[in-house]
Amino acid sequence: MIRGPLTGSCHYWRGPVAILEGGIVTWVPKKEFYVTADGYCLKAVPWGAPTIGMHRLAWENANGPIPPGMIIHHRNGVRSDNRLENLEMMSRATHLRVHAGWVRGPDGHFTHKPCCTCKRLLPVSMFYIDRKRDLPRPDCKECVSMQHKRLYIGRG
Ligand SMILES: [Zn+2]
Ligand SMILES: [Zn+2]
Repeated sequence: MIRGPLTGSCHYWRGPVAILEGGIVTWVPKKEFYVTADGYCLKAVPWGAPTIGMHRLAWENANGPIPPGMIIHHRNGVRSDNRLENLEMMSRATHLRVHAGWVRGPDGHFTHKPCCTCKRLLPVSMFYIDRKRDLPRPDCKECVSMQHKRLYIGRG
C-alpha cells in the first residue's frame, strides 16, 4: 500500500532514475511519488515507512549519498521544483538561517541578515559579531545601543 494518492507533478521527475540506497542502485519508476499539502514531492512508500523526499533522491542521484545531518534546500522556495540547479546541500544551521531571511554572497558566506528587533534586512557589518560562534548577533548595533540607553535611563 502507498502512503498517499499519486497527484500533482514533480518538476524533476521525467522518468526512471537510478538512486543510491545504502550503496545499491535502485530504480524508481515514473509516477511513484506524490505531492504533499505543503508542496513536497515524496516517494510513495509503504505506510509507516520513513518518507523519502524526491529532492533528496534527485540530489543523491547526481551527487551520491547525502552525509548525515545535511539538508537539501530548494533555492527558489518551490518545494516541488527538484531540478538539480534548484537544489543545494547545506547544514541544518545554515538552512535555518536561509529560511530566516539571511542572504548569502556568491562565496556562500552570509552578507545580510534581518535584525530580530527592528526587522530590517541589514549588512552583516551592522551587527556585532558573536566571537565564540563567529556569527552576527541577533540584534543590529543600533538596536543594541538603544537597549543600552534604555537600561541606562532605567537605572537613572
Ligand atoms: Zn529550504
Ligand atoms: Zn535592529
